[in-house]
Amino acid sequence: MRNSGIAVVASVETDGSFKNVTFELLGAARDLAEKTGEAVIALVCADENCDVSALKDFGADKVFVFSHRKAAVFELEADVLAVSSIISEISPSTVLFPATDYGRVLAPEVAARLHCGITADCTSFDIDGEGRLVQIRPALGGNIMAHIISPNTLPQMATARPSVFKKRDYKTENFEKNIVRNDFTAVAERVLKLKENSIITNSSAKIEDASVVVSVGNGVASRELVRRFGDFAASIGGVLACSRKIVEKGWLEQPRQVGQSGKTITPEIYFAIGISGAVQHLAGMKSSSFIVSVNTDKSAEIFNYSDLGFVMDAEEWLNLAEKFFKIRPE
Ligand SMILES: Cc1cc2nc3c(=O)[nH]c(=O)nc-3n(C[C@H](O)[C@H](O)[C@H](O)COP(=O)(O)OP(=O)(O)OC[C@H]3O[C@@H](n4cnc5c(N)ncnc54)[C@H](O)[C@@H]3O)c2cc1C
Repeated sequence: MRNSGIAVVASVETDGSFKNVTFELLGAARDLAEKTGEAVIALVCADENCDVSALKDFGADKVFVFSHRKAAVFELEADVLAVSSIISEISPSTVLFPATDYGRVLAPEVAARLHCGITADCTSFDIDGEGRLVQIRPALGGNIMAHIISPNTLPQMATARPSVFKKRDYKTENFEKNIVRNDFTAVAERVLKLKENSIITNSSAKIEDASVVVSVGNGVASRELVRRFGDFAASIGGVLACSRKIVEKGWLEQPRQVGQSGKTITPEIYFAIGISGAVQHLAGMKSSSFIVSVNTDKSAEIFNYSDLGFVMDAEEWLNLAEKFFKIRPE
């Protein structure tokens, strides 16, 4: 087992402060470090206003900071690149992510990129006789506690539930000297590229303030078609939104994402175009007053939540809708 540190991925609020779970995971890492003799390393993705000195009393021996976020906006791709690259560079034995919306999105992407296993939602950790991380979590409906190891790949990765692990009071000596600020040009460039590729909609209106929202999903197959839906939304006084799949493609920015890890909205009319109706998406829009769905699959879950449904191709529907709204008297 390599012995090069236990890393904790921090969870940062939009105001630059740390979520409590960050301190809890540092406490869990500290407990493990006392058994393995490793250092505890915090990995922080934030914007330049984040004050990492808050970590000094909770057990981080070293902190790597990436300040690539702009105005605290989280770009999945950029955080994945930042966290994966530092893991590749420093080769920790273990990486702990918070089992929050943020960690649950980030952790599998990082694990896939680094070809590692990952255990979700751990409630306890231990070190076995061979120095391996034992990842403990409820299984089979909570009837047993599964003890899981990752014997084949490193680092060992897990997400850990908030409000389970205890914070530790642990002051780090010479803390300032152990902060490594990364001029992560590659990430910045990638972020820039994402932004260039993003569709610039005419409207800067927020989706949470709009009474009409036109939301596009994976069934809207091209960037150009998304752009047309943006024009359509503007023409009817609405705002363009999307499912997470569209954000992951880099076609729209995260503040336009509806759902569990995006925004929860309740417009008067919600158009769901090429959106399947995954539970995480429904969480953000199912309380809309009137839902109109367009989907080629008549058994799509979204239809169960819709007031009006069109079983048809998104582009064909748009061609009709553009004509309809053009000829409709004011
Ligand atoms: C922790 C976590 C948090 C998440 N948070 C969110 C979140 O906040 N928001 C979110 O949206 N997702 C979220 N997800 C992802 C979610 O599980 C789904 O993967 C996602 O919502 C699917 O997006 P989609 O409906 O656009 O794509 P898909 O599920 O791929 O559905 C595409 C739909 O388009 C239809 N279609 C295909 N071709 C056409 C066509 N030509 N015309 C019309 N329809 C067509 C298909 O029949 C299908 O129903 C989260 C997942 C996790 C694990």
